[in-house]
Parts: sequence; C-alpha cells; structure tokens
Amino acid sequence: MKNTKSKLTSSVHAGSVGDFVYGGLVNPIYPSSAYDYSVEVLYPRYYNTPNQTAVIKKIAALENAEDGLLFSSGMAAIMTSLFALLKQGDHILFQLDLYGGTHYAALHELKRYGIDYTMEDASDLKKFKSAIRPTTKVIYIETPSNPLLKITDIKAVAKIAKEYKITTIIDNTFASPINQNPIDLGIDLVAHSGTKYIGGHSDLSCGVVVASKKMISKIKSTAINFGGSLNAQTAYLVERSLKTLVLRVKQQNKNALTLAHFLKNEPKINAVYYPGLKEHPGHAIAKRQMPGGFGGMLSFDIKSDPEKFLKKLKLIRKAVSLGGVESTINQPVKTSHAKLSAEERKASGISDKLLRLSVGIEAAEDLIHDIQQAL
Ligand SMILES: *Cc1c(COP(=O)(O)O)cnc(C)c1O
Repeated sequence: MKNTKSKLTSSVHAGSVGDFVYGGLVNPIYPSSAYDYSVEVLYPRYYNTPNQTAVIKKIAALENAEDGLLFSSGMAAIMTSLFALLKQGDHILFQLDLYGGTHYAALHELKRYGIDYTMEDASDLKKFKSAIRPTTKVIYIETPSNPLLKITDIKAVAKIAKEYKITTIIDNTFASPINQNPIDLGIDLVAHSGTKYIGGHSDLSCGVVVASKKMISKIKSTAINFGGSLNAQTAYLVERSLKTLVLRVKQQNKNALTLAHFLKNEPKINAVYYPGLKEHPGHAIAKRQMPGGFGGMLSFDIKSDPEKFLKKLKLIRKAVSLGGVESTINQPVKTSHAKLSAEERKASGISDKLLRLSVGIEAAEDLIHDIQQAL
C-alpha cells in the first residue's frame, strides 16, 4: 500500500485524530485498561487501544506498510515475531552482523525451543544463499549493521527469499523509516527498536513491527499470548516524537556525513565506517536503497587509547543506546557486544579500539571541535 503523501506530512498527520470532546488538536492519552465491550473489545494487551493505534498508523504510513504492532521494546518486537513465525524443527538464516542483543537472544533462546539457525555473511550473497536449508522459514537481515555499518543488498535478499518462499525480516532501526523503506524492496516484515530514532530523545523504550495485514494478524495472535504491549503514556510520547522524526533524521544524516569526512582526514584515526563515504564497500548499494540518507550512525578505529579519548570528550556523551537528539559514543567491546566471546567479535571484525558514534542534531562544527580537543 503505497502512501502517496510526503513523509513530512504523514509524520505529522497520519493517525492524529485530535480530541473530539474539546476540539484539542492532539490525540488525548487514553489510559483505560477497561473498555465497554459493546463497541469493540479494546485492551492494552490486544494491541488495539487508541494511543497504540495512533503510533502504528504513523509508522505504517512512513514504511508503506498495511499494519503493525507496538511493543514495549525492540527485543519484544523481534522475539515475538520470531516465535510467531517459527516452530520446532524450523531453521532461520541470520546475517552474521547482528545487533548484540539479537545475536545473544538467538544464541540463548532459539535452540532451547528446537529452532535451528545459521549466521552467515550477507555481503557474499552466494555464500548466504547456500546456507538456505529445506527447513529455512525465515531470513533475517539488518542494514546498516551494528557496529560496522555493513550494507546488505535488501532487494537481492528479498528476491532470493521469494524464490524459496521464505519469509524475510529486516531490523531497520539504524536507517529509520525516513532513510530506508524495505517493504518497497520486497521485504515482508520490518522491525524497529523505537527506543532509538523513533523515540529520539533517549527517554523511552518501545519496539514496532510493520507488515501486511495478514502477517501482522498472525504475529498478533502470538503477541497477545506473550504480552509485550506498550502503555498509553509511552505510546503518546512515541506519537509526539514521530511528528519531528523527519527533521531530526535529516539533521543527523547531514551531521554524520560531515563528521565522517572530518574523521577520514584525521591522522589520529585509523578507519572510518560510514556508508555515505564513497570508499565504503557498501556505498553503491546504500545509495540505491537508502534514498533518504545514510543515517546518523558511524564507527571509527582510534589509534590511541579509546578510554582516554572518551574521558576527554566534553559535549559528546559516553552512553549506550543511540538515535537521540544528543550525540553519544561508546566502545562496542564494552557495551553492545560485551556478551559475545572474543572469537565471535573477531569473526565480526570488531576491534577493541572501535568506537561507535550516534550523531545528534547539534551543530556539526561543535561536535568536530569536541573530537579535535579530545584527540
Ligand atoms: C536497540 C536495538 C535493538 C533492541 O531494541 P530495544 O528497544 O533495546 O529492545 C534491536 N536492534 C537494533 C539495531 C538496536 O539498535
């Protein structure tokens, strides 16, 4: 279902019906957990209360999806969807570079339920395709990936999956619905950690999946049993955040590109990973599949002691998570990928001197000054 309105318009108006009683412009917060059932059975854990619906309408409009579900975290969205689509004896093919939490969850949950998996490099499509088994039911990708910003060719993966009638899932968190819309490229299910760009102010946790009505209804029947729904107050904050998502992400795209060019020319930096740089191996594909921009995330290898550098930063805050209006930085080896073994990190190419920067909406020159003085 192609949404013909501009994202600037949809982010403000989709799902915003206002206040019918007093004529207020914004959606009221409906905290009720009990509703009169003579109209429709509304209930928070049925994922159908008004504030939940408003958020889904906006994100579905931005992602060109028919429907969606709003969860209390990104992991709730991802794991509930996997358990809804997979059963004992099934196999899932993951791309090798995964968000640390997803990697850890796969390792520690799936096999206990009799679900087998393979993690394979998706930048080598031949190798990736050869990992498909007769029991493969889901292919799961994430692009740009965390923390090395590797690019997977979404359209090519979707095409392979369709050949084998396999359901495709993408974690679209890093790109945000502004930069990349995987459903348009043939992906079945799009997941976001709304804790990141969608929330955007480092003050809430949520997750979302969007897909066709049919697929969402399938996931919903499992989601009702797992119960990872989001409360009305937070859903309202998410809706409010979505109204400025386009503006925030545009500024973050611009800042990240400026910083990537600065870091590339900085002799105290070893390597810069940003898909917007021409020398990035995934640049050509990223340019095609990320029409909105290359995103606000970048990583770099520093020559000196990373901890000393982090201590000297004054404006850029040392913190986990990402996608907020404020710039944050962390060392994946100590944060997102701390639970992986040294061998697993090495297999994914994550060095101890790698720093991951989530670029905020501040002035780029102030961020550059901060990095310069810390170097
Ligand atoms: C944060 C994140 C998640 C998990 O989301 P939570 O809201 O923390 O549960 C999943 N994927 C990516 C890429 C993330 O950055």
